[in-house]
Amino acid sequence: MVATSNNISLQNYREVTPPGTIDLLCKLAERLKGRSILHVNSTKVGGGVAEMLHRFIPLFTEVGIKASWQILQGSPLFYQTTKSFHNALQGQQQTVTPEMYEEYLKVNKKNSSEMSFDSDVVVIHDPQPAALIAKKQKKSKWLWRCHIDISKPQRKVWNFLREYIAGYDGAIFSLPSFAQKLSLPQFLVYPSIDPLSDKNRDLTGEEVRSVIEKYGIPADKPMILQVSRFDRFKDPVGVIEAYRMVKKYNDCCLVLAGGGATDDPEGVLVLDAVKEASLRDKDIFILDLPPDSNIIINALQRAAKVVLQKSTREGFGLTVAEAMWKGKPVIGGAAGGIIVQIIYGETGFTVNSVEGCAYRIRYLLNNPEHFAQMGQKAKEYTRRNFLITRHLCDYLALMLKMLGI
Ligand code: UDP
Repeated sequence: MVATSNNISLQNYREVTPPGTIDLLCKLAERLKGRSILHVNSTKVGGGVAEMLHRFIPLFTEVGIKASWQILQGSPLFYQTTKSFHNALQGQQQTVTPEMYEEYLKVNKKNSSEMSFDSDVVVIHDPQPAALIAKKQKKSKWLWRCHIDISKPQRKVWNFLREYIAGYDGAIFSLPSFAQKLSLPQFLVYPSIDPLSDKNRDLTGEEVRSVIEKYGIPADKPMILQVSRFDRFKDPVGVIEAYRMVKKYNDCCLVLAGGGATDDPEGVLVLDAVKEASLRDKDIFILDLPPDSNIIINALQRAAKVVLQKSTREGFGLTVAEAMWKGKPVIGGAAGGIIVQIIYGETGFTVNSVEGCAYRIRYLLNNPEHFAQMGQKAKEYTRRNFLITRHLCDYLALMLKMLGI
């Protein structure tokens, strides 16, 4: 049997997934043996899309599907442009100049001449590579997989992009409210986490302790944690403000752990703003982590007392599912996919303000019994809805549908 990157085979997932999942997956895959799927995105590391693709490719291969992953190569102006697209599509006012649109198309054209698209199904992730559609051949089916909250896009940018999306055979969104007026089939698929990856597998107490000690985080104070790229939509400064309110009543420490993505040029500016906001507080730990920090993040999520994802826009928060899988109720911004991940008062709390966030942090710190009950529910809810095995089933069902099998 072919093993995945961590030497984990599909059969290992039987121990952690709901009964019947792996059998269903194998049955679907049987009908697709020898077929191929290509994924294209714009970064190998950083952010949820790369996180999922790293785990998907070996699993597709293991079930007999030829899976490949190609990464679009851009210029600094291209990444600046696509970050503006990203912000505009998530509803923030942006100015995109004609030169920026031109650069977007130029980079897509150059990449399309260097890539090969002869797979049965081609999945293009997010706006960055969307214009590769110009290379679509009749025999293959192309899906545009949108991972961002596109419920209220800035019209001009969406109208530009929509011309390219219109050429696809289907579009996939993470929430019904992200669906658009398009004359192609639209599908709803929740993203997922891999319960057996280094990011999410069980750790020993010693493994967790050594990470906490490495960063000098006090073990005797409850830790509030947010793991995120340094991005304004993740509201790290709002997290610091909420922590300061809590700190007046409950002694605690705050860890903001993040890193950059190669296609996100704004990270450095946001990190500077975060450092500025945290000055002179020795109980705030800003960890600028390298891309392969999976065990570190896993340990932090396990050691944390309260996990936050205070986003103001979010396609779907993988970090929310990661913490829930570790038995933590999560406090998340009432935005995008977070509202389906967190069932209010059952698996965590969604909040709309700094004050609301501080109030719910204090609630979880001061109610350990309810915390434990919610944490248990959060884990089970994640097991049933947000694991990679369910996600793979969705992809296989989509392949069957698109290929008319
Ligand atoms: N992540 C990471 N290192 C970091 C910050 C984030 O490995 O420094 C991971 C995080 O654990 C999660 C993913 O990147 O798996 C972020 O996905 P999410 O959907 O939460 O947000 P996105 O960055 O895609 O907007």
